[in-house]
Amino acid sequence: MAFLLVVVSRRFMNPVSYRGRKLRPYLPQLFKHTGTQLILACLLIVGLTFLICIPFASQHAQTHTLLALTTIEKYFDQIKEDSDYLLASEYQHTDCERLLVPLRKGVFQSDRVKEIGVFDRDGRIFCTSNTGKTSFYLYQTMLDRINRSPFQQTLSYTKTRLSKEQSIVLMYKNNQEENGLSILVPPRYVISLVDDLFINSHLNYTVRVITRSLTSIELDKQDRLSVSHSRKYPLEVEVYKQKSYLFYYFLSKSWIAVMVAALVNVFLVLQKNKKLSSHALPMSLEGALQCKHLELYYQPIVEHREGRIVGCEALLRWNDPIQGMISPGIFIPLAEKVGLIEEVTHYVIDQACIFLDEHVELFQDKYISVNISRSVILKASFIDKVVAAFRSRPDLANRIVFEITEDNDFTEKELILLREKVMIMTKLGLRFAVDDFGTGYSGLHFIRQCDFDFLKIDKVFVKNLYQESNLVPVLKSMYRLAEDLNINVIVEGVEETEQLNILDSLGFIYIQGFYFSKPLPAEDFLIRLKAGGRDINRKELSSPKEVGSNLLI
Ligand code: C2E
Ligand code: CA
Ligand code: CA
Repeated sequence: MAFLLVVVSRRFMNPVSYRGRKLRPYLPQLFKHTGTQLILACLLIVGLTFLICIPFASQHAQTHTLLALTTIEKYFDQIKEDSDYLLASEYQHTDCERLLVPLRKGVFQSDRVKEIGVFDRDGRIFCTSNTGKTSFYLYQTMLDRINRSPFQQTLSYTKTRLSKEQSIVLMYKNNQEENGLSILVPPRYVISLVDDLFINSHLNYTVRVITRSLTSIELDKQDRLSVSHSRKYPLEVEVYKQKSYLFYYFLSKSWIAVMVAALVNVFLVLQKNKKLSSHALPMSLEGALQCKHLELYYQPIVEHREGRIVGCEALLRWNDPIQGMISPGIFIPLAEKVGLIEEVTHYVIDQACIFLDEHVELFQDKYISVNISRSVILKASFIDKVVAAFRSRPDLANRIVFEITEDNDFTEKELILLREKVMIMTKLGLRFAVDDFGTGYSGLHFIRQCDFDFLKIDKVFVKNLYQESNLVPVLKSMYRLAEDLNINVIVEGVEETEQLNILDSLGFIYIQGFYFSKPLPAEDFLIRLKAGGRDINRKELSSPKEVGSNLLI
């Protein structure tokens, strides 16, 4: 049990991983969900164990019966062995006087027998330990039974001549021709022997010699569980159940039920824990949406020559009370998988609009861009809601940019649909950006589908900019393309001065990256905005270059 507890507790301490992220198990939820199940499992196992016990209970009774029978047989065998010396050749063909002393010695030394008599080959008892010389015959039926028995022995349960009490008489010979012994055994000796075996067993028994029962209790035949017959003696043992037998038998085996229940429950709890952990994020993402544990951070987009903030990207943050900060790289794909992404997107748009509304002055000439997943942008329900939200608010729509990732997974049909949807939303005043440009292989084809206002060059083109010289021509051609299409370019993921220098020399002026600022909580972003965006990390560039067309506003 201790081992099981250690295993279980260690299992709960060990986080389960989801999409490469280690998740802490949700213990309160675990017990909330498994409590009833565990109780039901216990009840079921107890019930099943009880049912399984029934056939085993009669087997158990059978074992008791056999044990009782062999114990009695051994008892009589031992009596014979102890008395065998009285049948030695020296005591054959002799009179009672020579026999009397050994006979009495035999009774005196034995705690099993009351009286021993010796009978001759005609069945005449001529000497007993109690009366000495005597003369009476064994019943013919007894003699017949001795002669028929392969062991030359029999039993009888009868009233003795001496005490007139019912006694067991063990009669046997060792040789056809010579003397035999008739040994008187008080039935209570046999009964106490068996009583010891049946103590606390909740079974009743009866021992029969020939057909006579040694006990006087009346037993109901219906309660009889088993019967065993001796092959050596005319003896049988019958076992009967008491009313409480099954219950007590079950109680004696209840440790099995406890063990099975414990094992099953441990298994159930482990399974549930695994299931809950894999459902933990989806479950709490739904809760996070309801409880507003999702917060928008804003990362400035900067016109780097003047150090002027021209807009920002709204990036969702989830601070889960149990799991801590969860990256959008985990929960956005999860929201897509569990069908929550549309709700999440509306939440982000709503929050961004509230933020814009609350700080109209600060956002006069600035925008907030919001990421829209591919699965959401094509949905009619999404467009309907967007139209409903912005139809009467062109002032808000003009300050919102929707970022759509360049994606080669769009089929031709979907691209046509995308064009229609984008057109509807553009009419409202909303603007669109191609996100992560350069990563989706579709490049030009994708850009040409819609009327995009912005092109965001992915950070992979910036990361090793000053080490990989072949990136420069790629960036140059992207720049030219944007110029040709009259699209504003933003370069993402700028972290180093060297990167900025090269980008500047290529003509890029709109930058989003840690170089200027990490994504900030709303209050911190407001502080930056209130400062006029002028306090932004402005660097003296090595070779400033005139740039013409990439103006944002
Ligand atoms: P993204 O749209 O490409 O967003 C830019 C990501 O680059 C952000 O990661 C931002 O923190 C990170 N970043 C910005 N500047 C730098 C830099 O200089 N260096 C480096 N290494 N990283 C930089 P974040 O916030 O972890 O977001 C990851 C992605 O999750 C986003 O990529 C976007 O695809 C998705 N995401 C975030 N918020 C939302 C949302 O509200 N809706 C949807 N659909 N997706 C979202
Ligand atoms: Ca983005
Ligand atoms: Ca991006």
